[in-house]
Parts: sequence; C-alpha cells; structure tokens
Amino acid sequence: MNLFTLTGKNIVITGASSGIGRQCAISCAAMGATVVLIARNQKRLKETLSQMANKDTHLYYSVDLTDYDSITGIIKDAVSKIGRLTGLLNCAGISTTLAMRMTSPETLEMFFYTNVFSAYFLTKEVCKVENISKEGASVIFISSVMASVGTSGKSIYSMTKGALLSGSRSLACELAKKNIRVNVVSPGAILTPINENLPHMKDPELRKALEEQHLLGLGRTEDVANACIFLLSDASRWVTGTNLIVDGGYTAR
Ligand code: NAD
Repeated sequence: MNLFTLTGKNIVITGASSGIGRQCAISCAAMGATVVLIARNQKRLKETLSQMANKDTHLYYSVDLTDYDSITGIIKDAVSKIGRLTGLLNCAGISTTLAMRMTSPETLEMFFYTNVFSAYFLTKEVCKVENISKEGASVIFISSVMASVGTSGKSIYSMTKGALLSGSRSLACELAKKNIRVNVVSPGAILTPINENLPHMKDPELRKALEEQHLLGLGRTEDVANACIFLLSDASRWVTGTNLIVDGGYTAR
C-alpha cells in the first residue's frame, strides 16, 4: 500500500496558474488527486490543466481570491461536482522587496488582503461542514523562510508570511476535533514569476550571494510540491501544527 498516494483525494489549490501552485497541481494530479485549480488568469490555468494527468477530472476557476462573495459560490459548485474536499493548498501570494520608507497603508493592505485574509477566508469556506470530507482533511499554507528569518526590504512580506505561520498553529488546535490537519510549508528561494524581476534574482551579484546562502543551491518548484504531497497524503496522518521548512539549508546557519 502506498501511503503517499493521493488517489481519492479532492484538493483545492490556489495560485495554480503559475510557479509553485502550478507544479503542485501537476504533481498532485500525477499522484492521483482530483484538483480544483484557482487563480486569476484563465488562459494560464488552462495551460496548467494541459500538463496534468486525468485532465477531464479536474475543475478550474479564474477568480481574484479577495473577491470573497465569489469564493463561497465556487467552493459550493466544486463540491457539488466532485464531492467533499480532503485538502486545501493555499499557494497564491504576492511578494516584493521594499524598504519601509517606501511603504504605505495601501501596500500593507494589499499584501495582507492577498497573502493572509484571502487564504484565511478560503480555508473557512473549505472547512465548512457541508464542504469538507467527514473523514477529515489536510490544509496547507505556503509561507516562506521569511516568516522565521529576516532580510532587508522584506518586512511586509515577512509579516504576512509570519501571520500564516502563527495562525496555522491555532487553527490546527481548533480543527483537530474534525480531523482536519493544518500545516505550513516554508520554502526558501525558487525562481518563479513572483521573484524573477526582484533585485535578489535579477542582479547577478545578489543572485550569486543568494545561491550561496542556500547550502544546496536554489530550489525547484518540484521540491515544494513533494513536501505538499506528503502533507496532503495519509502518510502524514499524525502531523499537524507544524512548519515544514524546504529551503536547501538556507536557515541551517
Ligand atoms: P507566482 O507568482 O509564480 O504564483 C503566484 C500565484 O498566485 C499566481 O498563480 C497568481 O495568479 C496567484 N495570485 C496572486 N494573487 C492572487 C489573487 N488575489 N487572487 C488569485 N490568485 C492570486 O509565485 P510562486 O513563486 O509560485 O509563489 C507561490 C507561493 O509561494 C506564494 O505564496 C509565495 O509567497 C510563496 N513562496 C515563494 C517563494 C519563491 O522563491 N518563489 C519562496 C517562498 C515562498
């Protein structure tokens, strides 16, 4: 018996049009899951779908996750089509490198709405008794090493990722009685559209320094997807309230 299989699992993945979320959708489908893909760009969602196994079994919805009214209807629609949900992977997010003197209340709001509030609200919807599997489920928040360590220009991003990390522990306590496990995955640096134009990736010297800070070099989207497969599968049935750091050794020293 393969405890890591996702056969029979219905998993919602946000940010599925790009980067880590796209890879998670592809990898989860390859492991047998039925996936509900959510992101804003329909064309790119379809591109993800075209790379997935069992294409006809998955659903996709293009929506802005901060549009809470639409989210309620989407989850209801998905459950009516594929049945109750066994997993949620909150992957959608935005990033920036911004000195504090350049920030504004609007920047803070945008980051918290996208990275924290929308993930929390979606989790609330998915975990409603009419939407979640009676056997239990697994919720993952994609945080970042920036939740636990700092670097210049990342204060807003770090605050949002720290909020996910601390909130997830309390949610793990609250939802355990429903057999819903709640965990965080904290990646180190992986080249994706979120950071390809940020200084630490674009500037060759900064990029080299960043690579050296990761003991195993920069990561790949598959590295995060593999950690998520473990947390979404029955192999992790006794794992909740934890932070799985997937960072090639960035935080080891
Ligand atoms: P990405 O830019 O490739 O993908 C982000 C996804 O989020 C896109 O699909 C985008 O459409 C979606 N998204 C953003 N705002 C949205 C909104 N309001 N409504 C709906 N969808 C929205 O970035 P990525 O690197 O794949 O990042 C995925 C997650 O991993 C993010 O939460 C990011 O903070 C986290 N992360 C990334 C890295 C890295 O180095 N790439 C490191 C640590 C953590």
